[in-house]
Amino acid sequence: MNSKNYKGYLLDLDGTIYRGTEAVPGAEAFLAHLREEQIPYLFLTNNSSATPQQVAKRLQQMGIEATADEVYTSSMATAQYLSEQADQAEVYVIGEEGLRTELLSRGFILTEEEPKFVVVGIDKEFSYEKLAIAARAVRNGAALIATNGDAALPSNHGLIPGNGSLVAAVEVASGAKATFIGKPEPIIVRYALGKLGTHTGDTLIVGDNLHTDIEAGANSGLDSLLVLTGYSTREDAQRHAVRPTHVAEDLAEWLLRIKA
Ligand SMILES: [Mg+2]
Repeated sequence: MNSKNYKGYLLDLDGTIYRGTEAVPGAEAFLAHLREEQIPYLFLTNNSSATPQQVAKRLQQMGIEATADEVYTSSMATAQYLSEQADQAEVYVIGEEGLRTELLSRGFILTEEEPKFVVVGIDKEFSYEKLAIAARAVRNGAALIATNGDAALPSNHGLIPGNGSLVAAVEVASGAKATFIGKPEPIIVRYALGKLGTHTGDTLIVGDNLHTDIEAGANSGLDSLLVLTGYSTREDAQRHAVRPTHVAEDLAEWLLRIKA
């Protein structure tokens, strides 16, 4: 589709809108343009650790206008998915506040005793004990659900283990395979489009990661824009099996293109 004609945007955060604790140059101008043109957008993040309120606050502190209602996390998608499987069931959670809050707000019961589901999100206090509880529950019949499968995450100290690493441990220990919810899976994209109110054919998914953002677009039939402000490089994009529809240095360049 022509760059100018997208009717909605799904926007990755880390590496796309901000890096570390700083906004990517041009990001706020791009968002201001979308608001001015009344083009709807959602911040779509695989990060399950923070609540939408915390994500919005972090953006505001970087000078980016944002509300909690504009944020859709893999925790929200996971809670939505679980609600469709079984209402208010017992769940054993490995994960942080963002995930726990979403599950509790939908009425799930967090327990170690005979859960119907084991849900795994990033957890900086992951331990052998949590692994053992999760594996035992899955062996006893609980379904294994993962907020996302990111292998590694960028940090100030280089790459650190992502949730995919924790899920792999639970898979090996339990002998079961997880159902993944976050990007690049279609589940989170379907829910996000439902919230955004736009269609696959005229919505653009934007991100810095070929494996999550760009593959999410391909898996769900959305055009994609790779920005080169984060994880993947132009060379990566040329080698990767799934090609982005568009590539831009950053959102500032993309803004010039859609305003040209
Ligand atoms: Mg990213």
